[in-house]
Amino acid sequence: MNVTNHVSQTPAARNLLEEHQRLAEINHMDATHAVEDYRRSLEQRDGLPIEVHWEPKPPGGFGTVTCAWLEVPPADHHLLQLTASVPELAKPAVLAHELTHLDIDGQAKTVGKLRKIGVTVENEKTMMAALAPHVRALRWKTFGSEKQIKNCGVDLLMRFISGVQNNSLDMIVETKIKHLMPILASAQYLSSRFAVQRRRDAEGWKLWPDLLPRNLYRGLRASSASYFLFFDALFDNVTDDFAPDRNTFYEELAEALVDRFERAFPKLGPGDDYEFVDSVATMVGIREFYSWLPIAPMEVKSNREAQPREACGELAFS
Ligand SMILES: [Zn+2]
Repeated sequence: MNVTNHVSQTPAARNLLEEHQRLAEINHMDATHAVEDYRRSLEQRDGLPIEVHWEPKPPGGFGTVTCAWLEVPPADHHLLQLTASVPELAKPAVLAHELTHLDIDGQAKTVGKLRKIGVTVENEKTMMAALAPHVRALRWKTFGSEKQIKNCGVDLLMRFISGVQNNSLDMIVETKIKHLMPILASAQYLSSRFAVQRRRDAEGWKLWPDLLPRNLYRGLRASSASYFLFFDALFDNVTDDFAPDRNTFYEELAEALVDRFERAFPKLGPGDDYEFVDSVATMVGIREFYSWLPIAPMEVKSNREAQPREACGELAFS
């Protein structure tokens, strides 16, 4: 396998990568078994099978978690669709990542706090009010009718919301894996290199400054940058993937987001993840654009749902 095309090319990062490739190879079978045990334990807890598909082009680009209880109507199994192009030695960590998302949902359900993120008609109005000064730019972008302009604006902000949710939850997920599954340490490092590279390659949202008010654009850039800063910190700052975002107009906010996570993480109990997402959303200025919908299938049908949740958030900013 080969994960050499990573973003952070410091000598220390290169050495660490080589070391983790060596260790991931040695630990591969044990890591695979540990994740398989984890999957089985969640199946037992939830009373539902978890199907895992490695696909050439899964929805969301990197992968998608479909939690059975969040489907309308509820599904009879959880489904993970993951990208097959992940390096083989990183796969146990990628699978553990998605399983941890399901674990978090299951824990929230256990305490009656499972929720689904969505955009109500009221949220859409708030979105369009925020975008009002930028309608001209949206019109230029869509060449469209008022309806198309609205759809474009709402879609834009829904991607932003989805990205913030994914980023926030991914910080929780990756930190849990680091603490709870040390056998995955090397696979986790390799998978993070892959995810970081994919994320940097998919930074198409940089083209958005004309479409968003300045404060929202700053929040968007900071949220995305916090992903790199978080991974640098997770691996003791041997990597420096945050480097391109340093000395920017959003650097300080990105740092505040990671700081917010580090303070919140030790206190997070089952179902508290939504509040953490909300606190991040408030900091980046999008809290009024979405709602948490209770799991009541017939009621949520009329609302527009947020983008399908995907593994590592890259679609959200593409
Ligand atoms: Zn994720």
